This record gives sequence, C-alpha cells and structure tokens, in this order.
Amino acid sequence: MQNPIYTIAKIAEILNADAKLVDGEVVIQYLLVDSRSVLVPEHSVFFALSSHRDGHGFINDAYVKDIRNFVITDQKYISQYPDCNFLLVDDALLALQKLATEHRNQFNLKTIGITGSNGKTIVKEWLYQLLAADFNIVKSPKSYNSQIGVPLSVWQIEAEHTLGIFEAGISAVNEMQRLAEIIHPEIGILTNIGEAHAEGFSSKKEKLTEKLKLFAASELFIYSPEYVTELGLKDIPGKKQFSWSSKQAADLQITAVEPIKGNCYLRAIYENREIECLLPFKDKASIENGMICWATLLALGYTPEQADARLEKLSHVSMRLELKNGINQCSIIDDSYSADISSLAIALDFLNQQNQHAKKTVILSDLFETGRQDRDLYTEIAELLQQKKVNRLIGIGTHIALYADLFKFETQFFEDTNAFVEAFPGLQFSHETILVKGARRFEFGRISKLLTQKIHDTVLEIDLNAMVGNLQFYRSKIKPGVKMMAMVKAFSYGSGSFEIANLLQFHKVDYLAVAYADEGIALRKAGITLPIMVMSPEESAFEAIIKHKLEPEIYSIEILNSFLNALSDFDFNYPIHLKIDSGMHRLGFDQSEVNTLFEVLKDSSKIKVQSIFSHLVASGEAEHDGFTQQQINKFKVIADQLIEVLGYRPLLHIANTSGISRWPESQMDMVRLGIGLYGFDSALANNRGLQTVMVLKTTVTQIKVLEAGETVGYSRKGVMPNGGKIATVKIGYADGYSRAFGNGVGKMLINGQLVPTIGSICMDMTMLDITGIDVKAGDEAIVFNKEHTIMQLASDINTIPYEILTNISQRVKRVYFYE
Ligand SMILES: *Cc1c(COP(=O)(O)O)cnc(C)c1O
Repeated sequence: MQNPIYTIAKIAEILNADAKLVDGEVVIQYLLVDSRSVLVPEHSVFFALSSHRDGHGFINDAYVKDIRNFVITDQKYISQYPDCNFLLVDDALLALQKLATEHRNQFNLKTIGITGSNGKTIVKEWLYQLLAADFNIVKSPKSYNSQIGVPLSVWQIEAEHTLGIFEAGISAVNEMQRLAEIIHPEIGILTNIGEAHAEGFSSKKEKLTEKLKLFAASELFIYSPEYVTELGLKDIPGKKQFSWSSKQAADLQITAVEPIKGNCYLRAIYENREIECLLPFKDKASIENGMICWATLLALGYTPEQADARLEKLSHVSMRLELKNGINQCSIIDDSYSADISSLAIALDFLNQQNQHAKKTVILSDLFETGRQDRDLYTEIAELLQQKKVNRLIGIGTHIALYADLFKFETQFFEDTNAFVEAFPGLQFSHETILVKGARRFEFGRISKLLTQKIHDTVLEIDLNAMVGNLQFYRSKIKPGVKMMAMVKAFSYGSGSFEIANLLQFHKVDYLAVAYADEGIALRKAGITLPIMVMSPEESAFEAIIKHKLEPEIYSIEILNSFLNALSDFDFNYPIHLKIDSGMHRLGFDQSEVNTLFEVLKDSSKIKVQSIFSHLVASGEAEHDGFTQQQINKFKVIADQLIEVLGYRPLLHIANTSGISRWPESQMDMVRLGIGLYGFDSALANNRGLQTVMVLKTTVTQIKVLEAGETVGYSRKGVMPNGGKIATVKIGYADGYSRAFGNGVGKMLINGQLVPTIGSICMDMTMLDITGIDVKAGDEAIVFNKEHTIMQLASDINTIPYEILTNISQRVKRVYFYE
C-alpha cells in the first residue's frame, strides 16, 4: 500500500472548504496548531484554532516562519497575505478532525484505543514495549489525547504501520463521539476510571458512559468489571469482551499479588488453569496497569508463557522532560522518555523556550523509526536541529555517525554510551543548555547523571504543564484585549527564576514584575526580553535598571525626582509605572500628592508613564467587598486626573489573582497574576479549577526504634511514653520547613500514610513518628503535594500559602518537568 499524498487542493476538497489558492499543488505533510513549533514550513498547513486564544492572532507569526498554507475561519486574512493558500472553513477544529478521520480511513491497520482517567499513557507505552517485536507500531506522542492531540496522533499513520495504539481523553459530555470516529479502534481498553475530571460530568455513570463511546464499534473490549459497577451488562461495549479482576470472577481472575524485592508476583486463573507472571514494579498504580497489559496480551492470543516472558522485561516509563541544574552552570534537559522524531520536536521546543544560555547542545542517540530510510530520517533531524538553532550535536551510535555530513554545525560522534562516558573528562560543557535524548537501549540515564549536579535529597518539583494550565485558566477569565502581567517576584513565589520567566515569555504574557532590580537583571541575563516592572527600585540600582531596560515603579515624588536625575539628557520616553495608594497604605501616591506629581510630570519628556496602578487588599474576601469597590473608585478618580495632565492614556491596572476571579470590573487594561499561577486563589473554594504546581519531597535517612519513655531531639521535646519508631528526614528549618511544624503540628506523607513530626524541627533535619508503619531508610517523604496540600500546611501553622512557598530556601534544588 502507498502513503496517500495530500496536496493543499486535495485537502480543500476533503474539508469542503472555500479555497483561495495560489498554488494548489503544494504537498502537505505537517499539520500545525502552534506557530511556535514549525518543522518544515513549505510542507505545513497552519490551523487557526480558537481555544484559549484566537489562532488567527498567530497567522503573522507563522507567516514570518515561512508558513504559506492556512486553514482559517475569518476571511479578512486572505487579502492581507496574497502569496498564501487559504482554506476558509466554519470550524477549524472540526476541519482538523475531519482531515485526520479521512487519513485514518485510508488504512485498515489494527488499532487499539485506550481511555480511562488514570494510566492511559503508561498502558499505551507498555503495550508498545510488549508488542514492538511483532508489529510496526504508530502511537500517540506523549499524552496527546485531546480533541487536538488525537487528530495529530492519527495523522502520523503511514502505510508501513501494522498497529496503531492511541489514547483518548475527555473532560465533558459529547466529546468522545468525535474521537471515536477519528481513532476507530478495533480493540478497546479501559484503564482506571478514578474520580479525576469528574467536574465536566454530573455523575460517575455519565462519565463512564461517555468514555465508553470510544468503543461503540469495537470488536474486542478489555476491562475490569470493578471499573464499570455503575453500568448494566448491556451497556458494556464490544462484540466480544475480555475481563480481568482481582476481586471477582473474570476471564483473567487474579488470585494473588505478592511483592518480592521491588517486583510483584501475580497469580491468576485463566482458561481453568493457574498461570503466573512477574511485574518488575511494586507500586499500586504500576501493578494495576501491569494487570491491564497482562489481560491485553492474553486477549490478543499470546500464551501465558509468552505474556510472562514479555511482562517481566517491562521498563519504567518516565513521561517527564526534566530541567535541572548541571555542572559548570549548564542547564540540563533530561528527556529519557522516548526517542522518536515527534518527541524530539517537542523537546527541542522546550530547549528553545529556555533562553538562559546562548549555546544549545543536543546529545542524541540513533533513532529508530519503523519504515524509514536512515538518510531520510537524519536529513529531517538535521533540518530540525538547524531550525531550532542548536549549536552543537553530540551523536551517539553507529547510525547517526554515518550522516555526520548532514549536520552543518559543531558535531562530535561516539560509537556508544560507553565511549562517551570514557571521553567525558576531556569534553567541554559550560554555560550552555544541553538536551539529553536517547533511545532506551542507549541508557542515557548514565549521561544525564554525569552532567547534573548531585541532587541533594530534598527536591522541589515544579510541574510546568500545571503552571501553564493555571495561566490558561486565568486567560479564559479575562476579557479580550486585557493584558497579563505575571508576578515573578521572590523567585516566582519560590518556584524558580529564569526557568519560570522563560516559560511565561514563551506563552506570551505581556509583562513581568519583580520586587528588586537584582531579580530583573538576572532575568535579562537569562534572555528575557519581555518588559519587566521593578516594584522596589532602590536608588543605588537606578543605573543598572536603566542599563538593563527595567521599568521602575514610582511611588513618591522623591523617587521620581531622583530617577529623573539618574536619566541622562538623551533619555526620552523612559517607561515608568506610577503607583497609587488606594487604601493599602504601603507604597504609592495619594490624593494629597497628586498636584505635586502633576507639576513634575507635566514638563518631563525624559519619561513616559507606561502604566498607572494600585493594589487591592482584600479582593478575595466577600466581607470586604465594599472596601474593594471603594479602592477601585478611588483609583479611577486619581488615574483620570493623571491622564488629563499627561495628555495620553497609560495602561491602568489594579487586579491581582482574586481580583481576576471575583472582580471583572477591576480588570481594566491589564491584570497582575500572582499566586493563581502557582495554584492558589483565595476566591476559589479549594482552588477549584487550578492545578497543583509544586511538590516538595525529601528522603528518610535513618530509622530508630525507641524504648518506652525515651525522648527525641533538642531539649527532649519529643516524648514517647510507650516507645515506638521514628524516621529522620533530610529537611529542617534552614530549608524552609518552619520550626512551628514541630512536636506533631506538621505531618508528612510516607508510603501513602500521614505521619506527624516528633520533637522540635532541627536546622537540617526533622524526626517523624512512624510507629506501626512500614518505612525504611531511603524511602521518600512528601512534605506537600496534591493530596497533602500547602493549604493544609499553611493552616497547621496559622499562615498563608504565600509564606510556605517563599520560605523554601534556595538550597533546596528545583527540578522542572513537563509531561
Ligand atoms: C504580589 C503582588 C501581586 C500579586 O498578588 P497575588 O495575590 O499573588 O495575585 C499583584 N500586585 C502587586 C503590586 C503585588 O505586589
């Protein structure tokens, strides 16, 4: 069978689009939904989707990157770009889905569809590992399972593939039907259905019924009856079913689950005989996903012996792309997840987003793409690296080295990982961002270990996807045209500095704000070009502020005068921000000073008032709504007076996080998003709608068994009248774990159980009472995460989440990840 060829004219026909074509014969290979991830512009078509932001706003960006083919819904662009092909449709997302469905229907390959609430991606990746020996598999990249992700996944199908494994995720009713049409799975797998994402549904039954629509036309459905207790037998989809359970009768009835040394031994009854398998995992979620894979292999006709032999070799799937500090001031992006060209493109986008070092190096192994000629593959990789402005390639493997001539920048090649490790002491790595990406068999974990600083065992993990999710959440709440300033003061509320600012810059916020000039300078040095407001500009730092194009907040006549003095006679229209005190009484001009301010502003052309702003003190609290309204009114009055003398209109802004969610009237020209970005908003009950961004983890160093009456820690504060067991963990008040958590006030999670502190918190360590719980040295202790929340910690010691976050000291390593 041949791969179909899609000219833009052919696509117009498939989409039934109103086409304005300059050249209908252009062949399209890539579907683009994000103007930032352009691969091969001449063979790409850009879909102007309107999700959080209107995709038409990025047409120019795509045009500048040489894209000439567009699917749009607003015809006004056609005349603006006369050298482009335009397909005008009613709904760009539907068009994307329609094209993917058409593509899918060209092939009659076997397909497995996976849905559920948890485990979809792991089950997909494991089935890939288990079945790769027998099939040429195409699968969803990472967790591309949305209304956009599914069509992009299916678009990858080529004639050579013999099996497709695709995941589908939904969050509301009436979403699955379309995904079902695109994937059209012959075999269906339901993973753990959980309680997650229940918001878009009125009940668990509704959620389940919607998800199962994926399998309405499937031949075979693999599931556990425990996941579908809400449904009757007639509601179970599939012409045939294969069930598995560890609690009730099933085709694969699991009778024993025994952990042995990090592995798990499973026994079951299958076709009236006892069978067994060994899973190389011990945690609950992996065991459950392992059972699903076991059931799938048997349902596909593999013998129990074959299944056992394959399952035993499963390897851990890390879906993370991690950003860590490396040796010699390098930043390391560790992506050991999978090594195919689509995930390479994703990783390169991330590399490009982080601008802290001018030099970008990629360490890449041979890639194995089924059904592609090496020269073809490496040509595409070389183009990709070139486009993403990579400066140096270190290729590892015998294949990539054969194509050295394709890479037109600094390169070095090694036969295998061992050869690299041996040569490592003589290699230069300094002040650069390094992407480490290799196929599993190359064991690149060894390389990232060499490059990263030893991680002290207490780590703050920052989920960048969650942070972007929170940004989009607030974007969806602001009115069109309102600008977004992101508050990155105090190391982005403890989460990091340039790493976060780079992320926000990539996601196109309009402004950043920091507290001190130093913070702003650090961001400039890391490649941040966004305008940056400095809220406490010290006089001694004016020179540096001007040199780095930082924009000071001006809150008094004195500071205004001295800033004017610091500007040279040649400065013209230097941007400043005027702070009005509308009721907080911290910094800012009040009504009585306005006249003096006029006098100074009136005849200075050295400065330009970029914005006028004030700060709400209780926007999240209903009991102070009257005061908030007064603040808004007072601010408007003063701002209006200022606009009159200035003769132009600067941006007006007053809303912080809970202002955005509770006071639409306060949005004005710009909002200042702070704590909401990091997952908290006092105006939202339980922070509903926001995602958890940060997890703080430490490790157990030692376990001790104490006799009745023995005491723990300084001043003998911890008492154990009946004796018991304690664990010492590597975090103390110097790391930001407040002394107030001592003596049972604070708790940590170990192996899924909450355990209290005992005795006083020490500078670098804390003791926990683990009496009656199975814990050993080296186990992980969670200080806070999604379940044991920062909100809880804040309430335990009578403070607010802001303080818990910003107290985490700089010696605690930050690890950033993308999933
Ligand atoms: C910190 C700060 C914000 C952000 O407040 P959140 O409640 O965290 O959203 C906004 N404006 C100013 C002036 C601030 O100092």
